[in-house]
Amino acid sequence: MSVEAAKETMEFQTEARQILHLMTHSLYSNKEIFLRELISNASDACDKLRFEALKDDSLYGGDSELQIQVSFDKEAKTVTVSDNGIGMSRQEVIDNIGTIASSGTRKFLEKMTGDQAKDSQMIGQFGVGFYSSFIVADNVTVLTRRAGSDEAVLWESDGQGSFTLENASKDSRGTVVTLHLKDDELEFCDNFRLRNIIKQYSDHISLPVMMEKVDFADRKDEDEDKAEKKEVELERVNTAAALWARDRKEISDEEYNEFYKHISMDFEDPLSWTHNKVEGNQSYTSLLYIPKKAPFDLYDRDHKRGVKLYVKRIFIMDDSEHLMPNYLRFVKGVIDSDDLPLNVSREILQKNKVIDRIRGASVKKILGLLETMARNKPDEYKEFWKTFGQVMKEGPIEDYANKERVAKLLRFASTANDSDDQSVSLEDYIGRMQEGQDKIYYITADSYTAARNSPHLEVFKKKGIEVLLLSDRVDEWLVSHLTEFDEKQLQSVARGDLDLDDEAGKDDKDELVKDYEKVITEMKTLLDGKVSEVRISKRLTDSPSCLVLNETDMSAQMQQILEAAGQYAPKAQPVLEINPEHALIKKLQDMKGDEFSDWATLMFEQAQLAAGEMPEDSAEFVKRVNRLLGA
Ligand code: ADP
Repeated sequence: MSVEAAKETMEFQTEARQILHLMTHSLYSNKEIFLRELISNASDACDKLRFEALKDDSLYGGDSELQIQVSFDKEAKTVTVSDNGIGMSRQEVIDNIGTIASSGTRKFLEKMTGDQAKDSQMIGQFGVGFYSSFIVADNVTVLTRRAGSDEAVLWESDGQGSFTLENASKDSRGTVVTLHLKDDELEFCDNFRLRNIIKQYSDHISLPVMMEKVDFADRKDEDEDKAEKKEVELERVNTAAALWARDRKEISDEEYNEFYKHISMDFEDPLSWTHNKVEGNQSYTSLLYIPKKAPFDLYDRDHKRGVKLYVKRIFIMDDSEHLMPNYLRFVKGVIDSDDLPLNVSREILQKNKVIDRIRGASVKKILGLLETMARNKPDEYKEFWKTFGQVMKEGPIEDYANKERVAKLLRFASTANDSDDQSVSLEDYIGRMQEGQDKIYYITADSYTAARNSPHLEVFKKKGIEVLLLSDRVDEWLVSHLTEFDEKQLQSVARGDLDLDDEAGKDDKDELVKDYEKVITEMKTLLDGKVSEVRISKRLTDSPSCLVLNETDMSAQMQQILEAAGQYAPKAQPVLEINPEHALIKKLQDMKGDEFSDWATLMFEQAQLAAGEMPEDSAEFVKRVNRLLGA
């Protein structure tokens, strides 16, 4: 097959086309980030080569000095980024830059088509970086040759609907991306402009980023020099000393911030960081950051973790689940070990003592950082909690060893505050407990409002006992694992036979039980199969009735979670509690027949509604209400 015959034209996938359209038409700010994205891809390609070459040295083919070159040609109006990294085969080109199926693509489009400021800075987060070339270019070529192969391929596109692919020749492995600039983007054909962008965005790339050397004297006489055609001399533009390996005292906040942006693809400064050098038995360095904003895929199952593993300053792998537990998956940063072998694989990491120890210590560092933040910078901690609180609530479930420490970091809404702000810690709660109170009371519900207005809180309000209001999805899981804190039991106000230590009231209630014996027996018969028991309530003061679960019953919320996850969840039969002081309940004592059934059933259905559940037969419910309203 001749080289020409192998040229083919292919269509971009719909999503790729949408992205390209956006890139070419809608991004106006920070256009220069295309260079960051291309350099980042080139750097990744070099990392990949180094990783593969650990197993197969011949991939280097005698050239193991990995580097990235940036150049431009004023006359041709082009900017070129080349690398001697892994390169791509024909199929890889099609898979990687012809079609895009990354989970970020759709999210990116959603974000970009909303009211959001269309800022190009955001691109890096979504894994669509290559396409940012089309912000400034009207034509892009990618000439690439896979390490270990002799065949090269040339990809070309104007960023409209299609691209072409043809066989090509290339002397050595790696990738050359050439952007033909749009006429109004020619400012990028400038040595100083490009240098500044590299320094600003890519200074921390650990590989050398090279550009043609210029000095001021030459520049002035540019026209005269042109005729001479000197040998091109390259020089390194980025400083790239592994930041984390430097002394803490010598690193400025700006440097920490820039490094964070580089490794996280975030465009905002981080909220906080911790940088530690450990020497002795085991030597390693960790530089870990807490972001300000949550990534778009924080709750996706295939969310990539943000801690990179290095061994002796050499990048080994990204997103290893062995470096951070799941509930700290928002942490970004670098861990660099001196003790692991360079050819360490994911399998080795899985059962490696060195990694276990580093991970254990890193978790403690993050928890320590959060504790200090909570203590000294409450506003910052508030911001953190808003963003990552729900994820932190997975901590006591996942991390048994640090359960108490994580529990101290948790924050909840509470009846002590008049807002849905989650700002009350368990320690705050304990500090406000009443004399004789030995439990931490909470309620779980579907929403803050439902929790706040639940009839279960009535007696607590009356007695001035604080109740934590839990309405995050994860809360049910949390309280099923965190049953105790500081030797105090966590107790749901919607469960069990409430015993609020009120001796005076108790005798009255015993009296009342007698008065209501008949009502209770009849209601039990009527509601058989729906409730397990009917009893006089010690928690209601204003509402006529409420539903209560037994200590060991599964809550309605938990049941929903399990059902949504496709698991069988037995429905618990609640206890119906009635308020003997309430006029509607008092009336029941004189009722009979259909009237009694309607009235008693309604008391049950009201309790269901107050708990956020729908009556089983809602049409029947409406009819019943209307009958009672006299219609
Ligand atoms: P991301 O880099 O976030 O995956 P991109 O759209 O920037 O998204 O790149 C898509 C893919 O194309 C990369 O994941 C990589 O496989 C491939 N690629 C891009 N640039 C290069 C390069 N210089 N060398 C080798 N592969 C590359």
